[in-house]
Amino acid sequence: MLFGRDRICAVVAAPSAAEMARQLRRALRSTRTVELRLDWLKSDKERLLFIGWLQLHAPRATLLATCRGRRAGGRFADGIPKQMVFLQMAALSGCAWCDLEIETAALFRGAELKAFLGRVGVLVSYHDFHGTPRNLGEIVRRLERCGGDAIKLATQCHSLADSRRVLALARSHRRIVAVPMGEAGLPGRVLALREGSALAYAAVEAATAPGQLSLDQMKHLYRADQLNRRTRIYGVIGDPIGHSLSPLLHNAGFQARRVDAVYLPFRVRELRDFLRVIGPLGIAGFSVTLPHKQRILGCLDDCEPLASQIGAVNTVVVRRDGKLYGYNTDYVGVLRALERRVRLAGSRVLLYGAGGAARAVAFALARAGAVVCISARRREKARALARAVGGEEVDRWRLKREFFDAIVNATPVGMHPDTEHSPLEAAELNCRMVMDLIYRPRKTLLLQRAERRGIETLSGVEMFVAQGTAQWEIWTGLRAPVVPMRRAVLAALRAEEKSSSER
Ligand code: NAP
Repeated sequence: MLFGRDRICAVVAAPSAAEMARQLRRALRSTRTVELRLDWLKSDKERLLFIGWLQLHAPRATLLATCRGRRAGGRFADGIPKQMVFLQMAALSGCAWCDLEIETAALFRGAELKAFLGRVGVLVSYHDFHGTPRNLGEIVRRLERCGGDAIKLATQCHSLADSRRVLALARSHRRIVAVPMGEAGLPGRVLALREGSALAYAAVEAATAPGQLSLDQMKHLYRADQLNRRTRIYGVIGDPIGHSLSPLLHNAGFQARRVDAVYLPFRVRELRDFLRVIGPLGIAGFSVTLPHKQRILGCLDDCEPLASQIGAVNTVVVRRDGKLYGYNTDYVGVLRALERRVRLAGSRVLLYGAGGAARAVAFALARAGAVVCISARRREKARALARAVGGEEVDRWRLKREFFDAIVNATPVGMHPDTEHSPLEAAELNCRMVMDLIYRPRKTLLLQRAERRGIETLSGVEMFVAQGTAQWEIWTGLRAPVVPMRRAVLAALRAEEKSSSER
């Protein structure tokens, strides 16, 4: 191994020597390969203090020193002579590698660079924080001409196609570190080691580059260093995708059942961009979320009849011959969640909202034998959906006078950050049970109002977990480990709620 046994490289970056030392100790609990960002230290005094500390405490680990200048996206503002002196000192204090940007490295001739830094490995790096240039091959040749021991190429990816071109370098070159940056590059960061990159970076605390994952995510959520060519790749496509809980849910399932698979978030603006990487990345299946749930139907080879009736697909299986088959598990999810609490056959259920999720819920309720009543701010939409499922449209003013076995909110009203709102008033909650499809927060104002009236409540978390476990079962053919999957989602939601209440 070029950089030692651990190929996930933790990035230690802090303004003070004491913070750097603390982060380094923390990083070493997960990996023995660590980059030390000397340029993040706020002054030369702190740099000297930290290098002095390293001399005394140098851990048994592969340390890479970086003191990147501003031109290359770093924070070091002084000139090249001083930058080289700090790198030289780091090399003498236990760092086995120095990362030197091409802007500096290209100023040295032939063997000068290695002679200057002494017996350390030199990683010559190229960064582009604006985009992924067309001429990557030429850039690689320029990096190689600098006479280092390995090269690194980190570019901002605006599409999955960009990310694929960066990863292709890792496949075709040895001694290369390939870093697709940005949100679109995130799956590529996880898959880089599988594709042959010598390292993949992860932040111990603050991210030092766009799209950089935390060490915990890289090591424990995505297990980037365990992935190989046989690992099955799944994911979720959507835009935005950053807050999706699906990676937590599915990866918890794979880990609990020891399935060699990983689930990644793909930020997809245009479906075409994603469809082109399915084959090359070997994607075996994917979840679909907003805004692609309807549009994906036009890209499928086939689809379960119910999903095409609903007009939305949230789950796709990529068959061996590359054909795409679609399902709708929102439908299964709401049924699994509700049926545990309410006998749906013959019951009267009010659905508030008539959008995409409402369609899946309406079809599910109708299939289960419930009388489906629909109310929405746009009456024509409520009427059309009611007609499609053989239900009835209910005007809003009637809600205070009518009784339902259950009421389901299928609007985003009350969702984080607008948690002070409720789609329905307390006086409109005349029912045995209220379900909110929203799961951020777990207890919406609507559910609080219902509870105050002594009505049973059901959070959207249950539907989320149920639609996800149904996807997991379709892909793996195994029974989903529901308990650890739900636990992972609940823990994340609890942590989010705690941190937003502390703000
Ligand atoms: P959508 O297609 O945009 O539909 C939203 C519906 O809510 C539409 O009927 C819309 O009416 C209505 N609406 C929006 N703002 C409103 C307001 N201020 N007052 C009254 N009605 C309003 O969205 P969706 O995909 O159906 O999602 C709806 C909710 O379900 C979201 O909160 C989503 O997070 C949640 N969801 C949860 C799960 C789960 O697994 N728990 C799964 C899917 C969705 P107009 O047509 O008039 O705009």
